[in-house]
Amino acid sequence: MPDSTKSAHWWEMLPDIWEFLRPRRGHLAIGFGLMAVNRLAGLVLPASSKFLFDNVIGKRQLQLLLPIILAVLVATAVQGLTSFGLTQILSKEAQRLIAQLRVRVQSHVGRLPVAYYDSNKAGALVARIMTDVEGLRNLLGTGLVQFAGGLMTALFAFIILMKISVTMTAVAVGILLAFSLVLRKAFAVIRPIFRERRKINAEVTGRLTESIAGVRVVKGYHAEQRERKVFFDGVQRLLENVLRTLNATSYMSLASTVLLGVVSALMMYMGAQEIVGQHMTPGTFVSYILFLGMLVAPVVQVVGVGTQLSEAMAGLDRTREVLAETPEDDDAERTVPLGTVRGDVRFEHVSFAYEAGKIILHDINLGAGPGTVTALVGPSGAGKSTVVGLVCAFYKPVEGAIFVDGADLRTVRLDSYRTQLGVVLQESFLFDGTIRENVAFSRPGAPEAEVLKACRIARVDEFAESFEHGYDTVIGERGVKLSGGQRQRVSIARAILADPRILILDEATSSLDSESESQIQEGMYYLMRGRTTFVIAHRLSTIRKADQILVLEGGRIVERGTHESLYAAGGRYFELYTKQYGVESNLFLAPGEGDAEPPPIPATFPADGSSETTQEVPGGEPFRVIPSREA
Ligand code: ATP
Repeated sequence: MPDSTKSAHWWEMLPDIWEFLRPRRGHLAIGFGLMAVNRLAGLVLPASSKFLFDNVIGKRQLQLLLPIILAVLVATAVQGLTSFGLTQILSKEAQRLIAQLRVRVQSHVGRLPVAYYDSNKAGALVARIMTDVEGLRNLLGTGLVQFAGGLMTALFAFIILMKISVTMTAVAVGILLAFSLVLRKAFAVIRPIFRERRKINAEVTGRLTESIAGVRVVKGYHAEQRERKVFFDGVQRLLENVLRTLNATSYMSLASTVLLGVVSALMMYMGAQEIVGQHMTPGTFVSYILFLGMLVAPVVQVVGVGTQLSEAMAGLDRTREVLAETPEDDDAERTVPLGTVRGDVRFEHVSFAYEAGKIILHDINLGAGPGTVTALVGPSGAGKSTVVGLVCAFYKPVEGAIFVDGADLRTVRLDSYRTQLGVVLQESFLFDGTIRENVAFSRPGAPEAEVLKACRIARVDEFAESFEHGYDTVIGERGVKLSGGQRQRVSIARAILADPRILILDEATSSLDSESESQIQEGMYYLMRGRTTFVIAHRLSTIRKADQILVLEGGRIVERGTHESLYAAGGRYFELYTKQYGVESNLFLAPGEGDAEPPPIPATFPADGSSETTQEVPGGEPFRVIPSREA
C-alpha cells in the first residue's frame, strides 16, 4: 500500500495530469486561445485611458472620444463572449472528464484483489470514486486557464510597464517577487492539509455508511448516541482541517491586500514625482496604474486559483494511488485460461497468511474430486472461510499450491475460472433491485424460462408469485424486505442459474424455522448435485451427506473422513458433533463401517421432502433427521 499520508510533488504528477489532459488538448488549445483574446481585449481599457486623459481631456481633442468609447465597448463585448465560451467549452469538458474518470476508477477498484478490500473501508473507496476525482474539474475547467490567463496578462502588462517606466516597474516587480516566494511557501503548507481533508472525509463517510447500513444493530444496542459521538468527532476533525486551510488562505489574502496598498502608495509617490519633474504625463500615469493593476491582480488571483489547483492535485494524488494498485488479473503469472473444468480441486501443502509472518493455514492437503461434497467444520476462527477463500482464488497460498483440474490456480486467468464458480454465502449479496434482477445477477441476459426454472427449483416462486408485483418486486437494500429464508432462496436460485462447476456454500448458522429449512435444503440438494462443492457446514443434513468432512482447528486439518467414520472414531469431530446435536441414538455404526462409500447426494431432490422429518434437539438448533443408510 502506498503511504496515504505522504503527498507527491506536483511535478511528479505531471505525466498523470498530461495523461488526462492530452485527449482534451484541442479543448484546452481553444480555451487558451479564448483566454488570450480575452486578456488582450482587457488591455484596451487601460491603454485608452492615456488618450482619454492626455488627448481628450488635456488637449480637448473631443473627436477622439467616440472612437475611444467604441473601442472600450467592443473590447468589453469580446471579453464577455470569450468568458462565456470558456465556461461552455472547458467547464463542460471538465464535467465529462470527471464522469469518465469515475467510471475508470470504479472499474479499476472492481478488478482489485479481495485483500485490497480487506484493508480499505467501503465508504472510503466510495469517496475515492465519487469525491476525489472532482478536483480535476479545477484542473481542466477554468482553473488552469485562469491561472495561465493571469500569467499571460501579467506578462503583457509587464512589457508595457517597462516601456513606460523601468524604475517604477523594477520596484513594483521586486515587491511582487518577494510576495510570490511567500505564496510558494504557503501552498507547500496547504497542500498536505487538503490531502488530509480528503482522507478524513473518506473516513467519516465510510463510518457513516456503515452505521446507516447497520441501523438495526445500532438501534438494537441503543447505540445512536455513540454513533452520534463518532460522527460528531469526525465532523469536528473535518471542521478543524477546513479552519486550518481557511487560516492559511485568509493570511494570504490579508498579505495580498497589504501588498496592494504598499505598491499603490509607492507608485503614487514615485508617479507624482515623475509628473512634477515632467517625465510623465498624467494620462500615462493613469494608464500605468491600470496596467500595474493588471500585473498585481493575477498574482492575487493566483491565491484563489492556486488553492483550487492544490485541491485538484490532492484529489488527483489519491486517484493516482488507487489506479496504481495492480488488478488481480494483471498478474503476470496469470496466463493459463481454463476451459470447462471438471471440478477436481487439490490443495498440496498449502500454507497461508493474511499478514506476512502470521500463518493462518498450515500445510493443508486435500483432494476434492469432481462432483463431490467437501464439508468444512471446526470451531470459529479455525480457518474454514480462509480455505474457501483460497478455492475462490481470492488469495494466493504463501507455500504449496492449489490445483484445479491439474492447473496451478496461481497461474490461471481469473476470468476463465471465476465464471465456473458459484458462491452462496450466509450474508448473500442482494441489492436493491427486483427479485428477477437479483436472481439473474449471476447470468445477466439468461432466458426468462431459465430464470423462472431456477426460481422454481429454489422455491423462490412460492413467495415471489404471492407478491403484488411478482418477480418485479423490489427487495430493498441488501434484500431487507425479504425474510432470511427468502433471501437464501434467492441466492440459491442465483447459483442454480449460474450452473457453476465448483460451488462454495457458507451455510447460515442462524436457525431458520423448520419449514424454511426444509425448503432451502431441497434447493441445496439440487444445487450441489454434480458439482464439486465446498461447504462450511452447519446443517446436520449437509454434514452427514458430505463425501468428506474436514475438521479444521488452528488452521490445520486435524481429522478427515465421512460422518460415520469420524463419529465412530470418537475424536474431535465426535466432540463437536455431540456438543451441537447430542449423541446419536438412532445410528449405530460397527467399527470400520464408516469407511464405506459415503452416501451419494440424491440424484433427484425430493420433491416433497417426504423422506425427512424435523426434530428439535434439546439445547441445539432444530434439525432434520435423515434416515441413515442403515435404517
Ligand atoms: P468462523 O466459523 O468464525 O467464520 P473460520 O473458521 O471461517 O471462522 P476464518 O474466517 O478462516 O475462520 O479465519 C481464520 C483466521 O484468520 C482467524 O484468526 C481470523 O482472525 C483471521 N482472518 C480472517 N480474515 C482475515 C483478514 N482479512 N485479514 C487478517 N486476518 C484474517
